[in-house]
Amino acid sequence: MLLTIFLYSVVFIYGIIIGSFLNVCILRIPIKQTIVSRRSHCMTCNHPLAWYDLFPLFSYLFLRGKCRYCGTKISKQYPIVEFTNGAMAVLCFAFAGFGSDTLRYINTFVKISEEYEVLDWAASVYDIGVIILSCVLCSALIVISVIDWRTFEIPVGANIVILILGLIRFITLGLVDSRYYKMYCDLIGKEPSLWEAIYARGRAMELIIGFFVMSVPLAIIYYASKGKAIGGGDVKLMAVAGLFLGWKLIIVALIAGCLYGSVIHIIRMKVSGEGKQLAMGPYLSAGIVTALWVGKDIVTWYSGFFN
Ligand SMILES: [Zn+2]
Repeated sequence: MLLTIFLYSVVFIYGIIIGSFLNVCILRIPIKQTIVSRRSHCMTCNHPLAWYDLFPLFSYLFLRGKCRYCGTKISKQYPIVEFTNGAMAVLCFAFAGFGSDTLRYINTFVKISEEYEVLDWAASVYDIGVIILSCVLCSALIVISVIDWRTFEIPVGANIVILILGLIRFITLGLVDSRYYKMYCDLIGKEPSLWEAIYARGRAMELIIGFFVMSVPLAIIYYASKGKAIGGGDVKLMAVAGLFLGWKLIIVALIAGCLYGSVIHIIRMKVSGEGKQLAMGPYLSAGIVTALWVGKDIVTWYSGFFN
């Protein structure tokens, strides 16, 4: 129990530190400033910030939301982004069943055939790797959501980050699954063909299908409406997120995203007289996160109707 709390605290602190880096990205990407070289400074008085002003979340709370040097109010966006990233990292681990006791048992038994299971380290490493990649995915989605919300533009760099995450998942899943397919072939005394050795159990192929299954129809809508119905960045986001999630979960993500988008946007149009222009990025991101955390349960529940 204590160990579990400790592990989650480490994950949360990691999350808010990355979150403060995300704030820099959110601020500087739309104005094309370099992310790494310039020192952090107050946006009003330009005073460079000392190391003790830069503790994520805690500095904001300690300074009560004001600049130490000129007293100007610091935007609430900073602590919100930091906290959100920390909380999402914790939830990524929580939904995957992370804890001090589960950690040791996480998928270490791999089913090779109906009656044969092996104990293997590769599956554990892969599973924990996927959780860490999921945390990075959430971070990229936060950047996309805030920037799209403000500028109606999804930064290409954030989509490229998600593409890289998807490729890492695709390659490692292929490697892990081919390994088990090879074991299975050894077991039944059969030589896998080259295609089978790569294609293995077909799970990696689900990711490739995921890249196209939603992005192709959306791209057709994009070209047919000349970019009025949906943004090019949204199409690319659904392609790269599909590579990470696989085809089943990206369908869940799009349906959830459209649901969130239509419900919340109608409320916003009624309440605050919001215009017709709609930034889809935040809603699609929320849909992707929904699929990431509970998508498997939704798919299982849904396919229950057909059995
Ligand atoms: Zn200042």
